[in-house]
Amino acid sequence: MNRRDRKLGIGRSISRRDFIGGVGVALSGSALSSCSWVETESPLDPGLLGRTSQDLLDNYPPIRTGLRGSHAGSFEVAHQLRNGMRWDDVEDTDESYDLVVVGGGLSGLSAAWFYREAVPDARILILDNHDDFGGHAKRNEFWHGDKMLLSTGGTINIEDFNQYGEAAKRMMGSLGIEPSRYAEFLDEELHNSLGLQRGIFFDRETFGTDRLVAGTGEPSWREFLAKTPLSQSAREDIARLHEPHVDYLAGLRREQKRDRLRHMSYQDFLVDSVGIKPESLAMLQDNGYWAIGIDALSAWSAAAGGAPGTQGLGLGVDRESRSREYFRFPDGNSSIARLLVRSLIPAVAPGKGMEDIVTARFDYDRLDTAESPVRVRLESTVVDVRHRGDPETAKEVEITYVRDGRAQRVRAGRTVLACYNMAIPYLCEELPEKQKQALSQSLKAPLIYTSVLIRNWHSFVKLGVNSVKCPGSYFSSISLTPPMSIGDYHHAKSPDEANILHLTRIPLSPGLSAQEQWKAGRQDLLTTTFETFERNIRDQLERILSPGGFDPARDIEAITVNRWPHGYAYGQNPETGEISYQMDEVAPEKAPWIAGRRPFGRISIANSDAAANAMTEGAIGEAHRAVMDLK
Ligand SMILES: Cc1cc2nc3c(=O)[nH]c(=O)nc-3n(C[C@H](O)[C@H](O)[C@H](O)COP(=O)(O)OP(=O)(O)OC[C@H]3O[C@@H](n4cnc5c(N)ncnc54)[C@H](O)[C@@H]3O)c2cc1C
Repeated sequence: MNRRDRKLGIGRSISRRDFIGGVGVALSGSALSSCSWVETESPLDPGLLGRTSQDLLDNYPPIRTGLRGSHAGSFEVAHQLRNGMRWDDVEDTDESYDLVVVGGGLSGLSAAWFYREAVPDARILILDNHDDFGGHAKRNEFWHGDKMLLSTGGTINIEDFNQYGEAAKRMMGSLGIEPSRYAEFLDEELHNSLGLQRGIFFDRETFGTDRLVAGTGEPSWREFLAKTPLSQSAREDIARLHEPHVDYLAGLRREQKRDRLRHMSYQDFLVDSVGIKPESLAMLQDNGYWAIGIDALSAWSAAAGGAPGTQGLGLGVDRESRSREYFRFPDGNSSIARLLVRSLIPAVAPGKGMEDIVTARFDYDRLDTAESPVRVRLESTVVDVRHRGDPETAKEVEITYVRDGRAQRVRAGRTVLACYNMAIPYLCEELPEKQKQALSQSLKAPLIYTSVLIRNWHSFVKLGVNSVKCPGSYFSSISLTPPMSIGDYHHAKSPDEANILHLTRIPLSPGLSAQEQWKAGRQDLLTTTFETFERNIRDQLERILSPGGFDPARDIEAITVNRWPHGYAYGQNPETGEISYQMDEVAPEKAPWIAGRRPFGRISIANSDAAANAMTEGAIGEAHRAVMDLK
């Protein structure tokens, strides 16, 4: 370890004294292998009392730290399947269900909910390869003394409830979710009252010097840019880009503009149409929002996201500018997953509404019991799905999964495959070749969401920021979690209190196609060690926040890195080549995701992949459609 590492606190035990009820043990074991731990001290969460630390770590996955998301143990069997391995020695469990759902993400859980809506006494088994349910909708739970702190390891929000279909709205309503109440739970004034604004961090490797500039675009872009280390010409470029009234495609009709934008990347639009100099692009490279570089994102998608330079085009497609019904829980959409699981298996947690779900203690031992008509079986990777006999006439489907290294078989009257669509050709060999080909064209963008528990957030107040974009840095953004209180959950009101930071990393490889970038990104995610993530987290936070008094060796209490090698669902327009996360305008007969999701015998196909729509509404909508497809 060198001096810099020591200063950053690398290798320093991250104290767990705050979080596990009063069991003074040094923890070890596979669940902890990626993180260093010391003893525990203050036992305050009553829900946790009476259980040993190891027991808790074994049975309550949301509190696990280290490398999460697609954690070690969740993906290896699927990769073996892809590489040609088959499991012949299969144990028959003698279990039989009305429905088996493969994949316990929001789509799979919703499929179970919609099926039970139609057949209330149906017996359902949901199989998922992770140690927690919810898929991307992942809860990161920390404890600091007697205080629970929540963050999202994946899916953050209901971006716009107006975009949810009728079935999704019905389901959400029945679960007690009322997006219109968001303002009740968000403390909008807190950050304003402390003078916190957005900021941009310029790193020395990219911009020649480390500098945080608070107040992005305030009071005007020109005044803001004057404080940055950018050259005069780059400042001119960026200022011009934020003048929303300029139509850089003037003279073209709306249809012509759309065609032009669909055939070019956002980067090409910036350089060729706006006239941005290539050296100014460093400031604009970050596109954490959609997990894709500006050289691979279509200019049309950028315009739909209201990207700088597109607002004056008069296209009327900017989602940001239309009125939206936004909602988020403190743990993101994992509260939706928890509401679904509690509705399907009431014994798993007490309570009944959107307010108490946030702090409800889930008993993971009750997810998979013989008494319950609905069961969620975790750490179970499905490797084979086939009809018992001719798919046209068969009455049952056999599903084989691998758990603890053992292949086991269950039977079902029907099956919904709500797992990654690109994996389906490997686990369902009897599908027609053409359908397998269509499924294998599904696209996923990799990304990383990291949660960092910090002792206090004085440095943010001192520096006047609550979120920081970091173009060029390892993590492209850093933000304090929004101050939300709901039910018995209370956000950090004083900077003296512990808080959680949310960091995003998009592994980009500019110059490659989107597919190649994502492949490289997946590799990057799965081969980067926790130590490397930790070093980068500590280094970046130190460089940004130490002028505000932040000391990474002292102030970082816990780190959870959620890696999503198979993140946002994307589609590719077969005619224009455009890659997009919402493919509404492709003719159905030309869309591979529509050809891929055709029902086959007693099997139907869900997941957000089936709509080539990265958003939660895509996952839920496809669940409903897949249940309706079942014969
Ligand atoms: C980091 C991140 C942030 C996001 N933020 C938002 C947001 O703020 N708002 C929004 O609307 N959307 C967001 N999304 C998109 C949203 O999360 C997804 O649309 C939705 O959650 C996908 O649900 P799903 O069930 O279709 O897929 P998943 O969540 O991927 O669930 C599929 C499950 O199937 C499992 N599985 C795969 N293969 C097998 C197998 N062979 N056997 C057993 N199980 C298997 C997977 O491991 C996974 O657990 C985000 C996505 C990511 C990755």
